[in-house]
Amino acid sequence: MNLWYGNTHALKNIDLDIHANEVTAIIGPSGCGKSTYIKTLNRMVEMTPIVRTSGEIEYRGKNIFDKSYHVEELRTQVGMVFQKPNPFPKSIYDNIAYGPRIHGVRNKKKLDEIVEKSLRGAAIWDEVKDRLNQNANGLSGGQQQRICIARCLAIEPDVILMDEPTSALDPISTLKVEELVQELKKDFSIIIVTHNMQQAARISDKTAFFLNGEVVEYAETDKIFSMPSDKRTEDYITGRFG
Ligand code: ADP
Repeated sequence: MNLWYGNTHALKNIDLDIHANEVTAIIGPSGCGKSTYIKTLNRMVEMTPIVRTSGEIEYRGKNIFDKSYHVEELRTQVGMVFQKPNPFPKSIYDNIAYGPRIHGVRNKKKLDEIVEKSLRGAAIWDEVKDRLNQNANGLSGGQQQRICIARCLAIEPDVILMDEPTSALDPISTLKVEELVQELKKDFSIIIVTHNMQQAARISDKTAFFLNGEVVEYAETDKIFSMPSDKRTEDYITGRFG
């Protein structure tokens, strides 16, 4: 797969097999295409009008760039969590119920069930169960990020894309999100962009090292961090650049 922003060739001949129920980390220096890559996986990147792609991304046997592919359906199957927690200025309950309501769920009991299941899934139910009607913006940054993860779970995706989800969080909240990612991979496939190499080493099964829009190396995380095949990977993970 290739992607251009106007004349900028931002992703070059990307060919990655991403595996189900694993955590795949995307690492590399700023501007190497990490964010562009994950935003391509749910076609969010197309919100930038100058974007052009070639090639294919196959998901469940179909090319997501096919004219007949329903992008709304893709985005319910491939959810996304962003760098900065971005809860809606609504109650905790309404944040989680938002997606299911859009998809036509009206039954109060059913919505209650989805809200509880999603908040439990995002390991934040115990902290908020007594104040579901309070505004989500009143929570701490770490709690807000778990609310955003719960909001993503509520639409029952297969795949969760995370774009540096802990970069705005303190170390304790970061740890909570990392533990959560380990839990979530039992039920979901997770692709996470991270600047933090220790984080990639701690939580991912596979790691792809991007440089200048290309994948330099993609392998088991243990291998990337202990025996990289490419000198450029070694230089990056040992902190010689980036
Ligand atoms: P990373 O996430 O690794 O920091 P990005 O995916 O954000 O990298 O950027 C990859 C390349 O694409 C960079 O050269 C960047 O300048 C360019 N780029 C990203 N977004 C846009 C955009 N909206 N318009 C034009 N160029 C962009």
